[in-house]
Amino acid sequence: MRFSTKAIHIGEEPERMQYGDVVSPIHLSTTFAKKSIKEVEEGYVYSRSGNPTRNSLERKLAALENAKYGLAFSSGLAAESTVLLALLKKGDHVVTFDDLYGGTKRLFNQIMERFGLEFTYVDARNPENVRKAIRKNTRMIWLETPTNPLLKLADIKAIAEIAHEEGIIVVVDNTFASPYFQNPLDLGADIVLHSVTKYLGGHSDVVGGAVMVNDEELYEKLKFHQNAVGAVLSPFDSWLVMRGIKTLSLRMERHEKNAMAIAKYLEGHPLVKRVYYPGLPSHPQHELAKRQMSGFGGMLSFELKGGLEKAIKFVESLEIFALAESLGGVESLIELPAIMTHASVPKEERERVGIRDSLIRVSVGIEDVEDLIEDLERGFQAVGE
Ligand SMILES: *Cc1c(COP(=O)(O)O)cnc(C)c1O
Repeated sequence: MRFSTKAIHIGEEPERMQYGDVVSPIHLSTTFAKKSIKEVEEGYVYSRSGNPTRNSLERKLAALENAKYGLAFSSGLAAESTVLLALLKKGDHVVTFDDLYGGTKRLFNQIMERFGLEFTYVDARNPENVRKAIRKNTRMIWLETPTNPLLKLADIKAIAEIAHEEGIIVVVDNTFASPYFQNPLDLGADIVLHSVTKYLGGHSDVVGGAVMVNDEELYEKLKFHQNAVGAVLSPFDSWLVMRGIKTLSLRMERHEKNAMAIAKYLEGHPLVKRVYYPGLPSHPQHELAKRQMSGFGGMLSFELKGGLEKAIKFVESLEIFALAESLGGVESLIELPAIMTHASVPKEERERVGIRDSLIRVSVGIEDVEDLIEDLERGFQAVGE
């Protein structure tokens, strides 16, 4: 089965449903009655451990990443926490990208370090930087590609090869690309992770997370911790995510088409200093993007000429783009990383990785692109001399 067919059918097979439903029902029951004591160990027992609606979603999630197993969590960060708690212990070391989702960095620095995990941040655009940071106690390499907000890429295949020489597990946060445009497990990663709050849900109405793996031993550990830590996705939210996934391929194609048109428009604009979009030939890693992704996604960032004041004026003057954090929904969003999504990153560190005050991040929606470009034009008129 190919991608769109899997996205629609896996997890919702009518022959598995009691009444032949073509859509997975929402099973709200927290507990499941047994006919005899003998059956107590069989099938569904308690919804944290297993729920038919969540399990349907988990099978769909696995299918999207060509994985054997999928697990759904109550948020992307809940998925991340569970992966770290399941696979690492005090004294273990993780090598990770220096350009990460702010919440992931906060989880590493402010929570996991307290429990004795160690993290080294490197510019993972060059796989050799990852190799050099590996120590005797390195157990995991954690990548995000493309990164947030600068759309830097890591070569998953090259880094997985380095990691596997040393028996190190590779985790890839695939939220920005979505499984439609990139499948890290096929490139050698061991674990792929998503904030399903973004493209998989796709309608800005559900917070959730997902983990997909092929290795049975890893899966058993993660599944044990999903139940033991307890950050599971609710049945209703699982259903919302399944509903979203059915249109993932259509949405991603439109997100990308719109993003490409906007990236080109911005690149040609005299008030724009620089555009960050992996689909542009000017992107320094465009060749890698073409190699490891089947499309470039709907996220882009750009630097406006001038400072923070101008950037604020620009985003405040738009009418269609909502001034909001998050991404991946059908509606276009715009934000200023320096004072919004990445405000918790100290200024020197922001400057070091390249997140300047005038950087504007855009989650391009699936509206008519002419309306989006007219809206951006409104912003330029507001800040133009
Ligand atoms: C949003 C996001 C997360 C965190 O997911 P939540 O669902 O908000 O907990 C992690 N990684 C990336 C790249 C994200 O964009």
